[in-house]
Amino acid sequence: MDLVKLWMIAGSREFETSKKPLEGITKKGIEFINENVTKIDLQNKIVRTSYRRLHYDYLIVALGVELAPEQIPGLKENSLVLYDINDVPRIRDAVRSMKSGRIAMAITGLPYKCPPAPYEAALLIRSVLEETGTSNSIQMDFYSLTPITLPAGGPQVSEEILQILKSKNIEFHGNHKTVSVEQHKIKFESGEAEFDLLIAVPPHKVPLVAVDCGLAQPGKFIEVDRTCRTKSDNVYAIGDVNQIMVTDKIAVPKAGIFAEGEGIAVAKNIVSKIKKEFEGAVFDGKGGCYLETGKKTAGYLRVDMYADPAPVTELKPPTPDYFLEKEKFEKERLEKWL
Ligand SMILES: Cc1cc2nc3c(=O)[nH]c(=O)nc-3n(C[C@H](O)[C@H](O)[C@H](O)COP(=O)(O)OP(=O)(O)OC[C@H]3O[C@@H](n4cnc5c(N)ncnc54)[C@H](O)[C@@H]3O)c2cc1C
Repeated sequence: MDLVKLWMIAGSREFETSKKPLEGITKKGIEFINENVTKIDLQNKIVRTSYRRLHYDYLIVALGVELAPEQIPGLKENSLVLYDINDVPRIRDAVRSMKSGRIAMAITGLPYKCPPAPYEAALLIRSVLEETGTSNSIQMDFYSLTPITLPAGGPQVSEEILQILKSKNIEFHGNHKTVSVEQHKIKFESGEAEFDLLIAVPPHKVPLVAVDCGLAQPGKFIEVDRTCRTKSDNVYAIGDVNQIMVTDKIAVPKAGIFAEGEGIAVAKNIVSKIKKEFEGAVFDGKGGCYLETGKKTAGYLRVDMYADPAPVTELKPPTPDYFLEKEKFEKERLEKWL
């Protein structure tokens, strides 16, 4: 699970001891085929992998996103990528060995997975620096191409997150669109800044296989509504690979909790269809996630994407209890699925 990446940065978890084999789903009578999907043939209802062809009656596409740091010149070479499991231990070690200087964090593309996660990462890093006694000599700057911290959460939640960042001496710079990165220098559409360590959330892209089959337009995610049905018969797209617009400006954020909700709606509808019953399930848009703030505390972001008259997000202030709930959230999900 992606959220473990943040605990690895905080130094409380290791990747090897956090993994759980996906083979566990065979307990539920699901065959697990660990092969690369190379092609989806919508016309003939066939999924091709590197080794076989699988015929389907129903297809749920849940390919996630691909990270695309190469879209920004110099980003790959001069930063550590927050969402890349290979870079996460490097981030942990770089932060712990730093004695003074500037850490820059940058959100460089939209949309990106788990909108609050980069702020959690910044707060956890600040917490590590406090532990190592270097906090006072390390400046932290957070650059985002959005004007406020969490546009999907609205101005009030964004302001609350801004205040949490300020209280930890992390300076937020909105409207900073990264155009290129050089050694120790990040360049924006307007202006530039220096850093000793750059931790970046890179642009995300839809997996090529979803574009090649025609489910996604180039440069876009698979557009679906609350039923997650694609334009192809009996083919659904759930999770990060899709885009569900709630209003003309607001899309469902890319988060595991929403991928799960979408999956539940799709599963219900497929069962109804097989039973020749009414397919009335829709993704309910309800969910939430924890915003860790360091020292075993977390806030809770409660989200209702289809609240009337407009989407609602509220941030419950950080407490140790929400941190414990976050740990429980991971445990429960792993037990339920695997
Ligand atoms: C640091 C971090 C923290 C997060 N914290 C939270 C949190 O607290 N709460 C929350 O709700 N969300 C959180 N998220 C977001 C969450 O992890 C994602 O939204 C979620 O994993 C999306 O699920 P998915 O199934 O759509 O995609 P994924 O989990 O990415 O799964 C897609 C799978 O498809 C596979 N795949 C891709 N292409 C192919 C192919 N061609 N052939 C075969 N397999 C393929 C991939 O390898 C991958 O295993 C966090 C994300 C990050 C990065």
